[in-house]
Amino acid sequence: MGAEIVALPYAPDALEPYIDRQTMEIHHGKHYATYVANYNKAIEQAPALAQASLESVLANQCAKAPDAIKTAVRNNGGGAVNHALFWQMLKPKGGAPPSGPLGDAIRSTFGSQEQFQTAFTAAAIGRFGSGWAWLVARAGKLEVLSTANQDSPLMDGLVPILGLDVWEHAYYLKYQNRRADYVAAFWNIVNWDFVAERFRAVK
Ligand code: MN
Repeated sequence: MGAEIVALPYAPDALEPYIDRQTMEIHHGKHYATYVANYNKAIEQAPALAQASLESVLANQCAKAPDAIKTAVRNNGGGAVNHALFWQMLKPKGGAPPSGPLGDAIRSTFGSQEQFQTAFTAAAIGRFGSGWAWLVARAGKLEVLSTANQDSPLMDGLVPILGLDVWEHAYYLKYQNRRADYVAAFWNIVNWDFVAERFRAVK
């Protein structure tokens, strides 16, 4: 199956002023497209993987990938799956924090929506160098963590519910060194309907 490009589900300028058009165009059209292309190129050397879903290839620390391409699969397959989710986790006018099962689980796990956002923000700001902040489900329970580089929670058997790309390529044109401002802006454009549906699917 390989990896396929997921189109942006909105115009590249739709997330302004929180994420600018040029960043979205370069991020989706260049960085993301390169991860997808390089993943597909890597698995040319392992024809058995061509029939496997990206998610199944990443499982168990990319256990299905032969050693010769494991690093390429990890970096580029992770980049492909993380970004495919990320585009869908955003939307213009993200709307109110979730009610329903996800809202209930956030309150019971973190105390409040605000406390959850504080924990997630700390994970996003605290990730040294490049990586991602995540809200994940571990056996149905919510947890905040961060990953390095393009590592996906799927590699550890976790389900990514909400993720934020904190690579500089995701924010540098508009925010330069001010990652905290980018993370604060993110809360205005979270697609809570999509995120809540992901949690409903794992319950
Ligand atoms: Mn990125």
